[in-house]
Amino acid sequence: MVNSLLGRLADALFPNVCCLCQWRCPGRLPLCADCRNELAANARCCRRCALPLASDSLLCGQCLQAPPAFDRVVAPWLYGEYFAYILRRWKFQDDLALTPLMADLWLRSADVTVLPDILLPIPLHWYRQWRRGYNQAELLAGELARALPGLPVDAGRLRRTRATAAQSGMDARQRARNLQGTFTVTGSCDNLRVALVDDVLTTGATAREAASALRQAGAARVDVWCLARTPPPQ
Ligand SMILES: [Zn+2]
Ligand SMILES: [Zn+2]
Repeated sequence: MVNSLLGRLADALFPNVCCLCQWRCPGRLPLCADCRNELAANARCCRRCALPLASDSLLCGQCLQAPPAFDRVVAPWLYGEYFAYILRRWKFQDDLALTPLMADLWLRSADVTVLPDILLPIPLHWYRQWRRGYNQAELLAGELARALPGLPVDAGRLRRTRATAAQSGMDARQRARNLQGTFTVTGSCDNLRVALVDDVLTTGATAREAASALRQAGAARVDVWCLARTPPPQ
């Protein structure tokens, strides 16, 4: 009773503002129902890499030709204009209050039936993390683990051992070459079912490289949990 009164008082004193339309919104998360409805779900996609597909095929061409080292990407949202706006605020403008919203967007829409043994955030190179002050994938993994009790996070098991050139503007082949040998695994992953956590999957080159390092370290299954997937290049 006292808690609910205090909660209502806090809502009245510090109302939430929607991060998209800037109107007041009820509830603890800064996204109103109307704006949430504007986000596009990644409903029809490759069963393996979550690439949005125009047809009802189960797998995309790339997964058919060269299956990736990961088993499945779970990416419930499309990286559209509104999603990109929220993500930029979270990732590059230090609006870390958006972390619970990001986790909520994943948790309410992700189709996951079996949980992994451990969550491993995709690491940033130490220099980039030092410059940014945080790794958004690690924040997201921590928030997901809080909502899924018993699921540990290990932000140190996978390391990015060399800095890679910024990848925007590179095609899939250039990204793959840029990333070769980037990740090392510290400790064993023997028979572990791992979920890699990241914000957005673009070409999937980072996830492929990280997953193959984990496979070499003995992981039995590697899934990739991310918020959104970019559409295929035109
Ligand atoms: Zn709104
Ligand atoms: Zn695919």
